[in-house]
Amino acid sequence: MGFLSAPRPAPWVDRLLAETGLRLLATFEQEFTYSGVAAHPPQPYELDGYRRQGIFGEVLLAAMRQAGVIPDSFLAEFGPQQFEVTSAPALGVRAADDAVITRELAQAVAFRLGHRVSFAPIPEPSGTGNGTHIHWSFLDREGQPTLYDAHRPQGLSLLGSQFIAGIQHHLPALCAVTAPSLASYYRLRPNRWAPVRADVGRMDRGAAVRICPVAGGDPALRARQFNVEFRVADATASPYLALALVVQAGLDGIRHERQIEDENPRLLPGSLEQALQLLEACEPAAEWLGADLFSAYLKFKRAEINGLENLDESEICRRYAEVY
Ligand code: GLU
Ligand code: MG
Repeated sequence: MGFLSAPRPAPWVDRLLAETGLRLLATFEQEFTYSGVAAHPPQPYELDGYRRQGIFGEVLLAAMRQAGVIPDSFLAEFGPQQFEVTSAPALGVRAADDAVITRELAQAVAFRLGHRVSFAPIPEPSGTGNGTHIHWSFLDREGQPTLYDAHRPQGLSLLGSQFIAGIQHHLPALCAVTAPSLASYYRLRPNRWAPVRADVGRMDRGAAVRICPVAGGDPALRARQFNVEFRVADATASPYLALALVVQAGLDGIRHERQIEDENPRLLPGSLEQALQLLEACEPAAEWLGADLFSAYLKFKRAEINGLENLDESEICRRYAEVY
């Protein structure tokens, strides 16, 4: 196994386990733009979409295996030149490690093939967004899945639904960390398969939190597959900070026994500045991030806004695509 195979400590992982007996199993579904294909395939999700990218996908998956990251899937996504890669779910912080390693490898493989990869939230303002969706479920101390309960609404265990409700409750403020760039908010617009409200949906790709469909009749298999997806994240977010805040908001939902709100879900912030104001007003977030990081983060992000102040949306997208 790779050098990262030992469980890595983090206060939020420990707190979740100590207070609820739950272990977090998570993975990041990462969408990106690859410059090595020219056209938009007529049927992006079909085999043709995969074939057009040549050897990029297989080299990336081989490199992930070499680095100790287990690939789950690689596929052509809906947008022009758009693909997505997902690693197998991993425990706690290791999920964020895998996301970072996968991204670095995707960049390296593309470069080796004479091309470029960009994980930036949207290549141009009217384009198709690149989301980084965080999927998660829970295991108990014995390693058994506990998010699924066939007898409860939506198949969600009681703790699972309270956890989601906690995320939903804090979501507008969490955006400042999970969707933390100016371009993040060009992606979070209507009709883009990206969220615009703090809503929870079942088969809905426009929902902020999606309860993913599972297949097959075997209850044990369904419980293993069952997972929930947080869709308000993109690759300008640190996977560590995004995961840490989502989990702490979820744990807060369990502590307060919150319930999922289906009526009139709140709008998400429409810009980074709005998101930062909400984060600043969110008292628990200061504790979740720690006082120093909280104030440094707000200053740093406001400096990013100032630095891009006089540029139009297309130029801002271009700048982020250079960096991410
Ligand atoms: N590209 C979409 C996004 O920006 C998501 C497409 C999908 O559901 O995988 O989040
Ligand atoms: Mg996708």
